Amino acid sequence: MKIVIIGGGPAGMMAAITAAKAGADVVLLEKNEKTGKKLFITGKGRCNVTNACDTENLFANVMEHSKFLYSAVYGYDNQAVMQFFEDAGCHLKTERGQRVFPESDHSSDILRALDREMQKAGVKVRLNSEVEEVLIDNEKKQILGVRLHNREKIMADRLIIATGGISYVLTGSTGDGYRFAREAGHSVTKLSPALVPFNIEEDWCKQLQGLSLRNVEATIEVEGRNIYSDFGEMLFTHYGVSGPLILSASSYVGKKLKAKELTLKIDLKPALSEEQLDHRVLREFEENQNRQFKNAVHKLFPSKLIPVMIELSGIDPEKKVNVITKEERLGFVRLIKGLTCTLTDLRDYNEAIITKGGIKIKEVDPGTMESKLVKGLHFAGEVLDLDAVTGGFNLQIAWSTAYAAGTGIQI
Ligand code: FAD
Repeated sequence: MKIVIIGGGPAGMMAAITAAKAGADVVLLEKNEKTGKKLFITGKGRCNVTNACDTENLFANVMEHSKFLYSAVYGYDNQAVMQFFEDAGCHLKTERGQRVFPESDHSSDILRALDREMQKAGVKVRLNSEVEEVLIDNEKKQILGVRLHNREKIMADRLIIATGGISYVLTGSTGDGYRFAREAGHSVTKLSPALVPFNIEEDWCKQLQGLSLRNVEATIEVEGRNIYSDFGEMLFTHYGVSGPLILSASSYVGKKLKAKELTLKIDLKPALSEEQLDHRVLREFEENQNRQFKNAVHKLFPSKLIPVMIELSGIDPEKKVNVITKEERLGFVRLIKGLTCTLTDLRDYNEAIITKGGIKIKEVDPGTMESKLVKGLHFAGEVLDLDAVTGGFNLQIAWSTAYAAGTGIQI
């Protein structure tokens, strides 16, 4: 049986290995000059390859349609993925939040392991091979093959589309799979950038550019109503806010931004109640009684944050600490517990970790990832309408759906 796979990302490579190991004659077509361009930059070059949490938690971190993933994940879960890489000679380690990385901290080792396994299984990898059209027998509703950009036709018994989404287009994910799917009669749900930073209105964020805050709590409100809250790490940029905590928040609240303005409240000291924090501030003030306010708060914040907090507090920076009123101090405490900014917009696909939306999963068999509309056509990875928060879950979706597609070819 001849299998053609479009896309040499994680999903395409895993599907290729799985199908070839099952005895198929597999050709992997990748339009770039190398495979796994996006995989190479994952996890800031370290590749958070999966998450070692239990399976229930894994589903809980998938944004929508987690039920669709049941058979794919139970068929090939995070433990199986870890075993695959260990067996392929890439040792892994588990970090905070159960995030799994290669022991070497180099995504290139994950890529090399996949390349080795493809070679061992006899996958024919064709680089610089851009698929332009998927060929279908429209009467029989059966896959025929593909036509490349150079007009060459490659016939196939089965075809797996693993072309990814449309974020970070320079890595090759240009959304071709959505076009192929539409041409095959599939619906593609609304696409939007996800796991993406926010622009904020306030100018002071520019002063904080590059400042990373750990262990803060972010709460997002719409018209005073709390719609998202979580703890973690965030980052200020020249345009707004980013970092894992904010990226995950974008998946939950991004949609609401179109209709309404959202407010982000950052609790800089979530481990302390307002009362405890007031005692802490008071202690600081007592130790620095004769100092000016601007010189008395250095133990409370990272140095980059001090001028902004002083400005936003409304307290005269030259004021001696011992004449600051209780009201002013309590206002300052409230500011620390709720540094507030206005979220105006999501950044675009060039900065989005993933694309939300994709091929409608109701039209796909969850066990084999085969199209319910065209025989012999399968999908794998981000091209499907599946997405998850950060932590290795999106790659797990790619591995599990690819394995299901690779084993679902029934040789
Ligand atoms: P892709 O990786 O997008 O691969 C698709 C491939 O198809 C590409 O190589 C493309 O060139 C090829 N292709 C497209 N069209 C054609 C065509 N017409 N002909 C031939 N080839 C074609 N997820 C995690 O779980 N952990 C992380 O640490 C993580 N970090 C990330 C960091 C960044 C900066 C980004 C952008 C994403 C990150 N992700 C992470 C998400 C993860 O990389 C994706 O979910 C994953 O790569 C999707 O895999 P895929 O194989 O479906 O698609």
